[in-house]
Amino acid sequence: MEPLEDDDLQPLGSEHELDSTGSGVSSILGTEDARSTTSSGGDISVTSSSSGEYLAAVVAEAVVPRMENPTPASYSGGSGGETTVTVAAREKCVGRNNKGVTWGFTSVIGRRREMEDAVAVVPGFMSRTCDHIGGCTAPASRTSREISPVHFFGVYDGHGGSQVAKFCAERMHEMVVEEWDREAVDGYEWRRRWEVAFSSGFERADNVVMTEEVAPEMVGSTAVVVVLSGCQIITSNCGDSRAVLCRGTQTIPLTVDQKPDREDELRRIEGEGGKVINWNGARVFGVLAMSRAIGDRYLRPWIIPVPEITFTTRCDEDECLILASDGLWDVMSNDEVGEVARRLLRRRRRLMMADETPAQSVADNLTEIAYGRNSSDNISIIVVDLKSKRRRQQRQ
Ligand SMILES: [Zn+2]
Repeated sequence: MEPLEDDDLQPLGSEHELDSTGSGVSSILGTEDARSTTSSGGDISVTSSSSGEYLAAVVAEAVVPRMENPTPASYSGGSGGETTVTVAAREKCVGRNNKGVTWGFTSVIGRRREMEDAVAVVPGFMSRTCDHIGGCTAPASRTSREISPVHFFGVYDGHGGSQVAKFCAERMHEMVVEEWDREAVDGYEWRRRWEVAFSSGFERADNVVMTEEVAPEMVGSTAVVVVLSGCQIITSNCGDSRAVLCRGTQTIPLTVDQKPDREDELRRIEGEGGKVINWNGARVFGVLAMSRAIGDRYLRPWIIPVPEITFTTRCDEDECLILASDGLWDVMSNDEVGEVARRLLRRRRRLMMADETPAQSVADNLTEIAYGRNSSDNISIIVVDLKSKRRRQQRQ
């Protein structure tokens, strides 16, 4: 099969449109939704997939915008490195009111016996002004003061069982927004506020897993999360799932995998008396092939639920975001993934097919390619199309 010819590919599995009403959760998939736990021949057609777009403007609550450091955006996204964007006073937020975002995702069991991945797609998980979220490129503009949806995307790759991943897909976004809303952090500079919200949210998720006995202590999960406002892409990451941004012709990593042999992580683990043993790759005590995760109490203090957080200012050249579990990244490089996404998005946007978002077509195709390359793991991919519908139509 020539996997790169998208015209030959059929949409995978059953597909259902989930147009958000803005009332909250659009699509949260845990293992029960995967509809299969068999791996007979690794039937890739057993798929959870869904695409959607943000249609309705629902304002959850009024928020009085506070002008905190409304400097024109100029910030280098941490791990992205090359993502510095300097924007002179714009008239509108990059994503306008952030309502033109569309997405698609797949989550498949692949060749594994168990489905341990889970994904969360929660458009409008918060409603705030862009000024209030922080890092607005058009402070004091009309769009920056309009209460707009803020979107949440998460991929959780479980190990030792599916319980923690599933729990994160169901609850993590709620915990993050609750922590962000806390009075105690309300006075922080905006980036600091997000850092505290994510760190506290991840820590809380980890604690609840234990106190509510969500899972045995040998169960854990990665967590890669993206919060998307009109002007910012904020990532929070634990483990070796990954998020990348396709910007123009570049594919920019937004997260850095936390592996036990990463120099700083190795130092931290060994500094606490831990050992990293090479057993089919570097593993903490020869067991876990990542250095941070939610859960995994038996490997404390070496495995920690502390996320690394990056901030990337959106720009007009941004094509899409891709979040995925290592079932994709094990068999495709960032650049390969970016190339497939860009090419397919261009083609699908031209066609303007009504039944499927271009982002869904990218997620389906990447899944098929990864499977075709003998990925042995569960594969979960979320694709977020950052070119708003309105702007696409205007260009036509
Ligand atoms: Zn803005």
